[in-house]
Amino acid sequence: MISLWDHPDFDDHEIVHFVTDAASGLHAIIAIHSTHRGPAAGGVRFWHYPQREAALTDALRLSRGMSYKNAMADLPVGGGKGVILAPPDRSKTPAMLAAFGRAIEGLGGAYVTAEDVGITVADLVAVSQHTRYVSGLPADAGEAGGDPGPHTAYGVFLGVKAAVRRVLGKDSLEGIHIAIQGAGSVGGGFARLAAAEGARLTLADLDGGRAAGLAAELGAAVVDAADVMTVEADVFSPCALGAILSETTIPALRTPIIAGGANNQLARPEDGDRMVERGILYAPDYVINAGGIINVVLEHFHQASADEVRRRVEAIPYRLEGIWTESERSGRNPADVADAMARGLIGRG
Ligand code: NAD
Repeated sequence: MISLWDHPDFDDHEIVHFVTDAASGLHAIIAIHSTHRGPAAGGVRFWHYPQREAALTDALRLSRGMSYKNAMADLPVGGGKGVILAPPDRSKTPAMLAAFGRAIEGLGGAYVTAEDVGITVADLVAVSQHTRYVSGLPADAGEAGGDPGPHTAYGVFLGVKAAVRRVLGKDSLEGIHIAIQGAGSVGGGFARLAAAEGARLTLADLDGGRAAGLAAELGAAVVDAADVMTVEADVFSPCALGAILSETTIPALRTPIIAGGANNQLARPEDGDRMVERGILYAPDYVINAGGIINVVLEHFHQASADEVRRRVEAIPYRLEGIWTESERSGRNPADVADAMARGLIGRG
């Protein structure tokens, strides 16, 4: 127990649950960082961790990130995260999902789950047989809910447009060169929206076939995944992994704007200053990529319409503007400014 209090990522989390179900083999963590603004909302990750310690680190960091993301998206919820420790063979059984659902139900609504890495809409449907506290379920046409990816992609598109307006003085992405890392749900959705507005795209994905297929559809160029961060472009858009902006990669970037949907893009907090020193405008990840959580929270708590989700996602560029303006005024980097704003909103300013 003492080691949890002393964990470097422990940030006065309100409750951290360790879940074990011997019958199904489920081992999971549900971390509730803050319920200051409402029940803790955040997805569940299904991942194999060679060391269990890494699962705890993920749960602590990701749940804090959800508190910040939800607060900055002006949602009436707190921040939490589930992590299911996948067995070495990565098998995910109905019994495990059922046990996870029962564990959530036992929390009485303090935590509401949704999709994250390794969890599909179908998995959540299975979980929802055992608890009411699930979002990201299939939605009827015109209603909030379902796959959060397209909503995240739309918010990234609007955030990139705001950055381009601020740095390059252009109201349209026509002719703007954007290098996108990751051609999956978010990167692919963003690429289609940007291409429809006339952007010039360079795509990269570890799955070369995926990048090539999308590039053929959109008339885009493809580069090797190892090279996308050094492409000379107006915008670099990280839409794959976290921790890619670091002491090593930032000096090699050749772009004035970084704005994309990946979570936890900075390897270390001081990387925010490194980008400022290089004259790069950074869109804080959890602000620009909030479209998906806006969709799932409005589905679960408000049974809102798809139009309402769209309207709320369209507030993202204004939030980014506020952060950039405060960054210029205060001299603090945009990531630090966003963190300070978020902590104020969750009563920890
Ligand atoms: P996805 O799995 O659909 O797509 C990710 C893609 O990135 C895959 O095609 C993968 O092959 C590729 N990739 C992985 N490592 C790469 C690398 N080093 N270089 C190039 N490509 C690489 O996932 P997604 O839903 O599009 O999510 C992408 C990112 O956005 C993740 O960081 C995720 O946490 C974040 N995010 C997603 C959502 C959402 O609504 N889906 C919401 C918020 C944040």
